[in-house]
Amino acid sequence: MSDTGGVHGPLTDLPRIDLHCHTNASDGTDTPAELVGRAAAAGLDVVAITDHDTVSGWAEAEAALPGGLTLVRGAELSCVHHDEAGDEQRKVSVHLLAHLFDPTAPELAGELTRLRGERVRRARVMAQRMADDGLPIDPVAVLAQAGEAVGRPHLGRALIAGGYVASMGEAFAGVLARSSPYYEEKQDLVLADAVRLVTAAGGVSTLAHARARARGGVLSETTLAALAVAGMTGLEVDHPDHTPPDRARLREVADELDLVATGSSDYHGANKTVALGAETTSADAFARLVARARGVDLVTGG
Ligand code: AMP
Ligand code: ZN
Ligand code: FE
Ligand code: FE
Repeated sequence: MSDTGGVHGPLTDLPRIDLHCHTNASDGTDTPAELVGRAAAAGLDVVAITDHDTVSGWAEAEAALPGGLTLVRGAELSCVHHDEAGDEQRKVSVHLLAHLFDPTAPELAGELTRLRGERVRRARVMAQRMADDGLPIDPVAVLAQAGEAVGRPHLGRALIAGGYVASMGEAFAGVLARSSPYYEEKQDLVLADAVRLVTAAGGVSTLAHARARARGGVLSETTLAALAVAGMTGLEVDHPDHTPPDRARLREVADELDLVATGSSDYHGANKTVALGAETTSADAFARLVARARGVDLVTGG
């Protein structure tokens, strides 16, 4: 339907696809049912649920799926890559999007369970360090408010509620930062193993926000090439944290390595300012991802 007077102008016929969204199953604020409702209201044709280290939102999202909206079931895996640059060992924290994998595949399911355990351990350790230093937040309340996958944004909300910081941005710039004395590392999944486990579970894997420098170190192009050889499927090119030059370079790298270039909002509800569908994936790129997946099917609301 072309509707030149509408908000999307003459491009209304192109499918709108957002492959990276969080719910309150991890550190988003929408319920899975709200996510799919809002995705339809925002005019999306395809939306992915990609909570951190959990699939616990899948069933609710599927049950609430509005007619005509297609759901891609996925997760965002907490990973680590050990880079050897000369004689220096560098540890880079990275996120791997996994779409359309079989959630019952034992090895991957086991790692997801372990990663959620690490999240709980870390939240308790960080809450204790804050309490010891005059920033008392209640870890029991934080864990109760979090879904299956507690994250730093849950601690951030508690810090705001306690009046210790004014905003999530301030929390992440200070108390919750990696450089903060309260920070505790999680033992994340080795990136190359994550790619292998997702593939073994019939899923496709896409490196999330590959050049989001503010989050810490980013992977070298040599490492990206090795990941492509190891079976990684895609590279998230259009992401709110990427500058235009970084997007341009990532698109070239994706082309060179035959990786699928995706785009997505990384929507977190009220925990971030980005809107659903603020960045999207092309129909062609989406078709390439789906063609390589055999874990679970797409689901379309009737
Ligand atoms: P965690 O996975 O628990 O270490 O927490 C990282 C999460 O916090 C990621 O999902 C980020 O999207 C989110 N995050 C990072 N920086 C910020 C920020 N400044 N404001 C809100 N959320 C953030
Ligand atoms: Zn998050
Ligand atoms: Fe991420
Ligand atoms: Fe994310």
